[in-house]
Amino acid sequence: MKRNIVRDKNGVHLPCLMCGAGYPLPDACHIIDKKDWRTTQERESQANGIPLCPNCHRVFDEVLRPYLYGALTKFDAVGLPDSWKRSNKMAVTEHSLPNNDQRSTQE
Ligand SMILES: [Zn+2]
Repeated sequence: MKRNIVRDKNGVHLPCLMCGAGYPLPDACHIIDKKDWRTTQERESQANGIPLCPNCHRVFDEVLRPYLYGALTKFDAVGLPDSWKRSNKMAVTEHSLPNNDQRSTQE
């Protein structure tokens, strides 16, 4: 699975989808964590992965997913993956992210 995500059909390693960096080699980033998939088969599908360099992988996991979760929840989306609720990695916590109420004063 990872090979299909980080390499094209000719076996050439793909650049990072977010910043375009080719080095360091992008990881196969799971969009939705394995634990949130109901079946073991689909969680490893190509549709659940994107090639991201280590920096962008971290930004995706720690920042983008919590922001998306907040926006989608306010949009009344249901069934969102639990792993998107908060940073599931290291540095950024929910407290360090501006919440939607603080940002919406000029909307
Ligand atoms: Zn990148």
